Amino acid sequence: MARRQTIDPLVRAKVIETWGGECWLGLPGCTRVGTEDDHIVPYSHGGMDTVPNIRRACKHCNASRQDRVLYGYGARLHMIVAPPGSCDREAVDYIESHRNTGDPVVSFNAMASAMGLVSPSPAERRAVAMAWSGAYRQFAISAEPIDVWCVRTTPGTKRHPRMLDEWIALDYDVHVIDPGFGIEWERAGDDAARKMVRQWYALHLSQELVDARQRERRARLVALGLRTDRAQSPSRPEW
Ligand SMILES: [Zn+2]
Repeated sequence: MARRQTIDPLVRAKVIETWGGECWLGLPGCTRVGTEDDHIVPYSHGGMDTVPNIRRACKHCNASRQDRVLYGYGARLHMIVAPPGSCDREAVDYIESHRNTGDPVVSFNAMASAMGLVSPSPAERRAVAMAWSGAYRQFAISAEPIDVWCVRTTPGTKRHPRMLDEWIALDYDVHVIDPGFGIEWERAGDDAARKMVRQWYALHLSQELVDARQRERRARLVALGLRTDRAQSPSRPEW
């Protein structure tokens, strides 16, 4: 952190001239005004104090990003959002048909069953949620170009209600699975499960909505020199 203050003022001036002074991240809570130098490739990954590697960020976003990498600047995070009854069905099928052997999968249900839990209590669910977040946090800062497949029912928690916004800001590959309310409703075995289905559909998540927001974000990333246009980005699989 301390080295951030020693960036050559001429480099900083050139960064602002080239990429603008507005915060490049736009994470939830962003103040928009870039007051700090943010390294696209973090110091810890060997990122340099150069114009191509620095963008201006607000204090809030700089702190809240930590060393999480932009999609493809290290790990490639694939976030699969599915209603509760689909996590062990469609979400698993989707991942199995897209992942390469050995790609890590971070799934609440798989973690719960690895812990030997059958119908986890609230305390047990919290422990699984911590394991999920811990794995996500580590993969999200990985400098290795690995594909990581994360499954969640909701893109947010009470403490982090705007997770989806963070994923879009960091240009993760977000895939929404929705088999339809009727199918999910049928799958729900009891009132508690039906309540979860109703809550999921109240979020009004859709792939169209995510895609529209991602298109907007990617246009901004192109303007910031962090992406070429889509046709020139073969690293991202098409689906
Ligand atoms: Zn910001």
